[in-house]
Amino acid sequence: MTVERLLRIKGREVVTIRPDAPLADVAHKLSEGKFGALIVSEDGRTIQGIISERDLVRTIAEQGASALDQKVADVMTREVVTCSVKDKSDHVMAVMSHRRFRHLPVVENGVLCGVISMTDLMRHRLDEVEVEANHMRDMIAGR
Ligand code: AMP
Repeated sequence: MTVERLLRIKGREVVTIRPDAPLADVAHKLSEGKFGALIVSEDGRTIQGIISERDLVRTIAEQGASALDQKVADVMTREVVTCSVKDKSDHVMAVMSHRRFRHLPVVENGVLCGVISMTDLMRHRLDEVEVEANHMRDMIAGR
């Protein structure tokens, strides 16, 4: 399964946040949505960073409630690892588990065009396992 196909199933919507936004906005956006990270971008096309639940929790643990006034740019990860639409899901999963993060923005011709999360990959893998199990059940039953 390629990233392109995964995106066709889950959609290409990406929720972004501006680098000058306060962390309070990150908390609001993360709690409204069903995802665990936001891509930091001024224009929604170019990636400047990534900020995840973990960054938010870490900063609040370090600084207390005043952390919510901090700017995204001061907390985000700047060296963002990305993947391409041509990459295979196995490769993307290996990158995430090796680097210990759960989100990989997808870039095509230099433009942000989606995000793959560990949850997307697990969901796809569970579907595959179910198909394999059904296939084996049919074989055993001689269908
Ligand atoms: P996550 O497991 O995705 O919540 O992220 C854990 C840490 O890795 C946080 O500090 C994120 O900012 C960072 N991070 C998440 N995704 C990426 C990525 N694709 N490239 C670089 N850093 C990332």
